[in-house]
Amino acid sequence: MKTVLFLAHPESDGSLGKVALEALTAAKSLVEKSGADLVAALFGGDVQPAADTIAGCGASRFLGVSGDDFAQPRYASDAAAIEALCRSVNPDVVVCGSTSRINRVLPGVAHRLGGCGELNATAVDVDDNGVTVARWFYRQRMRAVLRREKHPLLVALGSGSYPAWQGDAGSAQIEKVDAELGDACTRTAVIGQQAPQSGAQTIRPDADLLFVAGAGWMKKQTDGQTHVSEAETIILDTLKKSQASLGGSKSVVDISGEGVEVLSFMTHLNQVGQTGAVPRHPKGLATCCHGEEPHVVGWRFINERRAINLDPNCGWAHGKADVLYVADAFEVMRKVNALMEE
Ligand SMILES: Cc1cc2nc3c(=O)[nH]c(=O)nc-3n(C[C@H](O)[C@H](O)[C@H](O)COP(=O)(O)OP(=O)(O)OC[C@H]3O[C@@H](n4cnc5c(N)ncnc54)[C@H](O)[C@@H]3O)c2cc1C
Repeated sequence: MKTVLFLAHPESDGSLGKVALEALTAAKSLVEKSGADLVAALFGGDVQPAADTIAGCGASRFLGVSGDDFAQPRYASDAAAIEALCRSVNPDVVVCGSTSRINRVLPGVAHRLGGCGELNATAVDVDDNGVTVARWFYRQRMRAVLRREKHPLLVALGSGSYPAWQGDAGSAQIEKVDAELGDACTRTAVIGQQAPQSGAQTIRPDADLLFVAGAGWMKKQTDGQTHVSEAETIILDTLKKSQASLGGSKSVVDISGEGVEVLSFMTHLNQVGQTGAVPRHPKGLATCCHGEEPHVVGWRFINERRAINLDPNCGWAHGKADVLYVADAFEVMRKVNALMEE
């Protein structure tokens, strides 16, 4: 293996996202193990600030496709940019973070290059027989390690798979690469962004904490009444103050689709579990959620687990949580929010 290409795009604020920096750690580890050359390639509106933040990463060259045409995510221009970057380097392996922008175009670019793309991989490694890519199958139950014959191999790594690269910023000398864009490549324009329902972004893959709300938030409480709007206020306040990512149990997201009084910001995208997502956060707090197995399998990659439930015999008490607070989640979270306010 001669060349590893680290590929990334700046986020809307011009910085490199955490998942990109994690991919840089992976690219560097490949380079260290194989003795290959590391090249960094960026595409986007203005790539200089992002390149400067990784100036000390040890890349022998920095390449960039930049300009107004590449500022917004768009299949045709992003694919043309990545293709041009890859053709000018001819790397053996391309390593990048699995952002939605990259996931959308990487398979198409791999096809154009006659190579092979792997999305949402969890590791990339090298041994005497070449490069390997690890990924999970069957809802994270089976881990496979794959080798590909095609060249180049384009690997997008899922968030949380590696520690984010940390190192010196500086002044990167970017070699400008031209990507040809015909008229057909600029037909699509991004005219705005719409967040789901409440307008609040509740899913934050990079958050330190996963806050899960279960159906108990919508159930009758000790006074015989439901308190859904208060539940909403408490949960949104918690999310705002802690910047946690919001998960939901299947019961809570299913009820949300049934037209009764519900947590308005909860959608199926928030569902954690066997038929939902398997997020990766260092810590998790489940509230008003029973902790049944089909839900808790979605916590596979949550390192430290805590739960608040009125029921001392709930699922979390059966070895599924590190700490279970047997308490009223309304009371506890009101108090936690007040403490965070202080
Ligand atoms: C094939 C299959 C796939 C499934 N996939 C998923 C999945 O992907 N994700 C998933 O979540 N589920 C899944 N389920 C459903 C799962 O088995 C449970 O039904 C679901 O997780 C229950 O949701 P819950 O704990 O929020 O609700 P409930 O079981 O209704 O629990 C509510 C809890 O809230 C507590 N509570 C109420 N008020 C308070 C209060 N004031 N303070 C503290 N606690 C309170 C109660 O004690 C209770 O434990 C699946 C089921 C099947 C059969």
